[in-house]
Amino acid sequence: MLSIPSDWPALRFKLRQWAHEHDQVALQASEINLARMRVLTPLLGGLSAVSTLVFAFRLILQDSSGVARDWLFGLLWTHLAMGVMMLGFMGLSHHLRHEARRLAGQILPLAWLVTELAYATVLACIDQWVTPNITPFVLGCMLAGLLLHLRPRESAPLFAAAAMAFMAGIGHTQAQPENLLSNRINGLCACLLGLTLSVLLWRKFSVITLQQRALEKANQALQTKQRELERLTRVDGLTALLNRATFVELTRNELARARRQSTPTTLLLLDLDHFKQVNDTWGHPAGDEVLRHVAALCAGTVRSTDLVGRLGGEEFIILLPATRPEAGRVLAEKLRLRVQNTPAKVQGHSLDIRVSIGLASAAPDVEASFDTLYAAADQALYQAKQWGRNRVV
Ligand code: GH3
Ligand code: MG
Ligand code: MG
Repeated sequence: MLSIPSDWPALRFKLRQWAHEHDQVALQASEINLARMRVLTPLLGGLSAVSTLVFAFRLILQDSSGVARDWLFGLLWTHLAMGVMMLGFMGLSHHLRHEARRLAGQILPLAWLVTELAYATVLACIDQWVTPNITPFVLGCMLAGLLLHLRPRESAPLFAAAAMAFMAGIGHTQAQPENLLSNRINGLCACLLGLTLSVLLWRKFSVITLQQRALEKANQALQTKQRELERLTRVDGLTALLNRATFVELTRNELARARRQSTPTTLLLLDLDHFKQVNDTWGHPAGDEVLRHVAALCAGTVRSTDLVGRLGGEEFIILLPATRPEAGRVLAEKLRLRVQNTPAKVQGHSLDIRVSIGLASAAPDVEASFDTLYAAADQALYQAKQWGRNRVV
């Protein structure tokens, strides 16, 4: 997580890389900080309120004088001030809860940590009047390193400022030179520890967040590919019409529904006339273009509830649910004429295309399968070819 390179150029490169990573996760860190602040602020506020009460009762109930009285008053005012500050932070963190993008939303967590460290520093300094221990400051540094996500370029000056304030502060309240030196060293260690915790947690947060994002991205790409693959297994690659297997499957469903609802079903089988000549004269890519052209004409002529597929080669198939043979014939004629009257544009030339169509229909009371209907349409198509092509049979 924190592998620091030994040579200077590699270290500079690494630091730039980290800075780039930190930029990418900064917004998410701000959002988390604002959410955490809404929980932590009442907690810290409650703690200061309880402490304020304890010291207030102590002052009221017990006679104290001299340094002890100064100490009690000092703590009382510090906890009271902290309680009031936390009330303010509660209002601000609620007000800015969705403002992680705004500067105010980004500065607020930093201001919160400054307040928390100042509180710890002042408590530890006041304690020096009666005890040499600096527990509040040590705890404050640990919590500042643990509670919120702070970029190292923000946490480093923060802990440096806390160390300086602490060292200067206890210089005024700790009179014993040995205690003063020991506490200053311990305070410095607490700051370094807090900073280390903060940097380690920030790096962990950055790495995990970026890994999660990469994973989500890969997952999305995989799902898109999977959907595309599923689509490709259902459609014909050249014309994007239904492929044979899908068409047969959907036709079986339609025929079952037609039987249940007693409706007629009509099937059209289309075969381009003399298509081989197109390939032979203009080449296969031109032939492919003609196939796409006819596919678009078929799809554009029928209703959205009709099924249009490519059986293979230059043969197309259309299922017309709830359609009598007479109506199917009208549509087939319309399609034949459309193909005839809409030349394909290939390599700057207009190619005239003709199509023969075989029609078969299943009456509402007849139980027809795809195979029987297809065989009948194929027979009709054969007749259309025999009788001179460019016709509907
Ligand atoms: P007919 O009027 O009797 O149907 O004659 P035709 O030339 O259309 O029929 P034939 O079966 O002799 O030739 C069909 C041609 O379709 C032969 C084959 O090269 C071509 N073909 C089949 N699939 C494709 C394809 O995907 N792309 C192209 N460009 N041509 C194809
Ligand atoms: Mg053919
Ligand atoms: Mg043909």
